[in-house]
Amino acid sequence: MSNFHSGDEQDRKFETKLIHFGGELDPSTGASSVPIYQASTFHHHDIYNPPEYDYSRSGNPTRQALEDYIAVLEGGVKGFAFASGMAAISTTFMLFSAGDHLIVTEDVYGGTYRLLSNVLSRMNIETTFVDMTDPEQVKAALRPNTKAVYMETPSNPTLKITDMAEIAAWAREHGLLSIVDNTFMTPYYQRPIELGVDIVLHSATKFLGGHSDVLAGLAVARDEELAQRLKYVQNGLGTVLGAQDSWLLMRGMKTLGARMAYSEISARKLADWLQSRNDIETVYYPGLEQHPGRAIQEKQSTGYGAVVSFDVGSGERAKRLLSEVKLPLVAVSLGAVESILSYPAMMSHASMPREVRLERGIGDGLLRFSVGLEDIDDLIADLEQALSSSKI
Ligand SMILES: *Cc1c(COP(=O)(O)O)cnc(C)c1O
Repeated sequence: MSNFHSGDEQDRKFETKLIHFGGELDPSTGASSVPIYQASTFHHHDIYNPPEYDYSRSGNPTRQALEDYIAVLEGGVKGFAFASGMAAISTTFMLFSAGDHLIVTEDVYGGTYRLLSNVLSRMNIETTFVDMTDPEQVKAALRPNTKAVYMETPSNPTLKITDMAEIAAWAREHGLLSIVDNTFMTPYYQRPIELGVDIVLHSATKFLGGHSDVLAGLAVARDEELAQRLKYVQNGLGTVLGAQDSWLLMRGMKTLGARMAYSEISARKLADWLQSRNDIETVYYPGLEQHPGRAIQEKQSTGYGAVVSFDVGSGERAKRLLSEVKLPLVAVSLGAVESILSYPAMMSHASMPREVRLERGIGDGLLRFSVGLEDIDDLIADLEQALSSSKI
């Protein structure tokens, strides 16, 4: 990409990089955004000298601008854009082969759990799920054929915190790749590569896109060798993001800093308010003083994020509340301008067997609130009326 990594530019603050990432202008016209190169193929002017881009599965200038953008934000060497978060995740898992073993956080995103347990298992890629808040459990899961450790922190939906630097250092010592799904924090709050992690993944459908209008996934590699391997599987599988969606995602990402900062202030207020009520069983938010992972969160991130989970005591009450709220979208997904209230038991974690789900702390009364950009007082007032009308 451009000369972003040289000189003073490297010292710029994250908020500045979000706007001046190197690909913000069209170099040929000075237009204020990258053109949408809606083309599948590219003319070879000189057959002996193939063009930089020859076919859009292998490379497209609009997608490339996005891929360079996320690489700058995460501090890696190269970025890759995919048709969805799951496309980024599944493509990354294709770095592994039959007979390999992976250590994965037990409260991993539901779709990743399903992919590992029901699809990759058929290809003889084995997974051990462990509680990654306890590094000893990770270490105990090591086998001769282990190839990678896969983290998600804060985890979904109970917001458990994994010490990325410790796990990544241990993984490196044992020749394993370390991978982090950074969807919940985004590089605005947390940059795993700076902590020693090898590959960062995103469902860009969430905070990065930020407007509930695009499905996309991103990956960033720490070094050239890994980047080449990722590029090879991305091109081989053809799981790429289209030009229109690449453009739309960049458009959303430019406001990431402002959106995250605003939503986080509201999320802290919401967590405190929920915590102060006696009709809520548990509140999960890494910014709460009694959150067991708070110290690690503060060591490895610059914020707590905009997702608050809470348990209202029973499935019946949770369902009543979902029908009483007026402001949040009642839906799967998170990280948008509008607040989104999810019911993990019947939505994101519906594919997880109930016993496994309960074991992982995802009770029938658990709700996940992704705080958007509405006024927090209005959001709290709405939740208050919904909670009182769903009292059992
Ligand atoms: C949504 C999500 C995914 C999957 O991403 P899609 O864009 O829906 O494919 C993966 N990980 C986390 C943490 C998510 O929230």
